[in-house]
Amino acid sequence: MTDCLFCKIVAKEIPADVVLETDRTLAFRDINPQAPMHVLVIPKEHHANAAELAVADDGLADDVLKTAHEVAVREGVAETGYRVVFNTGPGAGQTVFHVHAHVLGGRNLTWPPG
Ligand code: AMP
Ligand code: ZN
Repeated sequence: MTDCLFCKIVAKEIPADVVLETDRTLAFRDINPQAPMHVLVIPKEHHANAAELAVADDGLADDVLKTAHEVAVREGVAETGYRVVFNTGPGAGQTVFHVHAHVLGGRNLTWPPG
C-alpha cells in the first residue's frame, strides 16, 4: 500500500526504532509510548486490522503473536507481565490502519483499560 505509514516503515522509507525483525513481521518502538516498554508488532504484509489478519491465511496472526512474545522476553517483561492490544476499528481508537499489536510492559497495567 503506497499511502500506508507502516508499509513505509517496512519499506524503510520512514525510519523506526526496530527491536526485532523476522521474515514476516517487524517490531519497533511506539513513537508515543504509553508504558516504559511500548513496542508495535506488525506483519510486513498489509492488512487493515486484526479482523482482516484473523482471516488472512497461513499463520500470519500466529507469527505476529510469537514476535510479540519474543519482544516481551527480550525487553525483560515476560516474567512480570505484559499486555498485547489490537485496537480494531475507529471505535476502539485505531488510528493507523495497518494492523499492529501494541506490546506494553514495564509498569503496573490497570484493568479495565481506558
Ligand atoms: P492505534 O491508535 O492503535 O492505531 O495505534 C497507532 C500507534 O502508532 C500509536 O500508538 C502511535 O503513537 C504510533 N505511531 C504513529 N506513528 C508512528 C511512527 N512513525 N513510528 C512509531 N509509532 C508510530
Ligand atoms: Zn500498510
